Amino acid sequence: MSRSKLIAGNWKMNTNKATATELAKAVAAGASSAKASLGVAPPFVYLDAVGQALAGSKVLLGSQDVYFEKNGAFTGEISVEMLKDLNVKFVLTGHSERRHVLMESSELVAKKAAAVYGGGLMLIHCIGEKLHERDSNQTFGVCQKQLDELKNFSIDDPSRLVIAYEPVWAIGTGRNATDAQAQEVHAYIRQSLGRMWNKDFADSVRIQYGGSMKPENAGGLLAQPDIDGGLIGGAALKAESFLAIVAAAK
Ligand code: PEP
Repeated sequence: MSRSKLIAGNWKMNTNKATATELAKAVAAGASSAKASLGVAPPFVYLDAVGQALAGSKVLLGSQDVYFEKNGAFTGEISVEMLKDLNVKFVLTGHSERRHVLMESSELVAKKAAAVYGGGLMLIHCIGEKLHERDSNQTFGVCQKQLDELKNFSIDDPSRLVIAYEPVWAIGTGRNATDAQAQEVHAYIRQSLGRMWNKDFADSVRIQYGGSMKPENAGGLLAQPDIDGGLIGGAALKAESFLAIVAAAK
């Protein structure tokens, strides 16, 4: 089963309206020749402006977060329907900063994932171990627990599910997993998806690597058989480095 590569930029709490728009335009301009699918996830408040800057391009608009309820008294929160209203196509859930800095529980992450998928959007579900968990051989166990967050709702279309394997110790640290370390966990994730659904399903799901991916290491990581793209933080804040990663996705 051939899987198209997906390179997505997570801009986190960076940019302002002018720089977000400028970055989006530069990414859109460079996207036409890209072989991979690509997307960017700006801060909520710039989704509209960035969506307009991307109009007519193949770059998908994404959201870094969402709330699981449909509407109501949830001060400060944003629903799936609101995101769809702004032409958002994918949403991240379970990002390590939401889990470990904003202290989102596994239960909350699971509800958000269900709302995104159930709402018809593409779900990029992030999983990954901390350094002490890797050092104590818990990497597979932690990843499995976070994959289990997808068990409580039905997933019928594998093209709308993306798993981002992001070892926490590699995010924003400049220290990426080696090609072999990343491939080992990606292969485990695919086997696990096969047990949770079936082999055909698992073979169709894209599994991205995230954690200090940059132009210098992207070629090696993206050449691994089970690495189907990247979720990019720091290097997505400059169109040149983001597009260089996109170009490395053959
Ligand atoms: C991320 O936040 O998803 C990420 C991978 O960040 P960075 O590329 O900066 O490590």
